[in-house]
Amino acid sequence: MSRVYTTDAIVLRRGRFGEHGVLLTLYTPEDGKVSAIAKGVHRPASKLAGHLEPLLHVRLLMAKGRNLDVVTQAQVIHAYGVLRDDLYRTAAAWYAVELVDRMSESRQENRLLYDLLLGLLNRLDGETSPDLLLRFFEMRLLAYLGYRPALWRCAQCGAAAEGGTALFSPGNGGVHCSECAPGAPDILRLSGEALGLLRFFQAGHVTQWKEDLASPAGLQESATALRACVRALDERAPRSLALLDRVRPAAMAID
Ligand SMILES: [Zn+2]
Repeated sequence: MSRVYTTDAIVLRRGRFGEHGVLLTLYTPEDGKVSAIAKGVHRPASKLAGHLEPLLHVRLLMAKGRNLDVVTQAQVIHAYGVLRDDLYRTAAAWYAVELVDRMSESRQENRLLYDLLLGLLNRLDGETSPDLLLRFFEMRLLAYLGYRPALWRCAQCGAAAEGGTALFSPGNGGVHCSECAPGAPDILRLSGEALGLLRFFQAGHVTQWKEDLASPAGLQESATALRACVRALDERAPRSLALLDRVRPAAMAID
């Protein structure tokens, strides 16, 4: 096996490594989450400086190391200038990157997750509403990690979901029928509109979205339910969530 290889990657996180180096957490198409080091990045003449920042899509030349692989060359594929110029879009990207970092295992290929994160960054670098993008992202993230919420049938017994208000358990897999609901610890009562939105986020695509599909209240309810699903998998609130909520435009507040 060659000791040198190339890979595309999304930079999730970076910290210091020694005096001049950085320790990177990358998300790659073939190996999922990978840690790597880059040496000399903080030296003035480094060719790597500026190419290994979080939220960049990059192509890397890597050398296999004894413990950690080493980045020897880096080229930026997408710098996401629009995203970086907008604090709310940047906060949304940090939130997504943190979720992928925390909820994925090292060295476990998940091409769907890679494509999901890359697709999100690409769209955040445009005009689509960050909130809308995050709802689709959260719903697919849950699915690609193996926690696709049941929205059409009771998560416990499989009975078809009843109409109107839905009994929804974020920690117990989704919609519950009235007989199974008492056994779930965290039932949320969702309006029919919010359930419809969750179904749309799961089965539809962001390009099919139209403003008149939802009321602000329905959107907020569906956002709260999705956030609770993510939280059920990882009890610590993402650090980036505080920033996201602080810089969110007032019209889009989420409880
Ligand atoms: Zn049931």
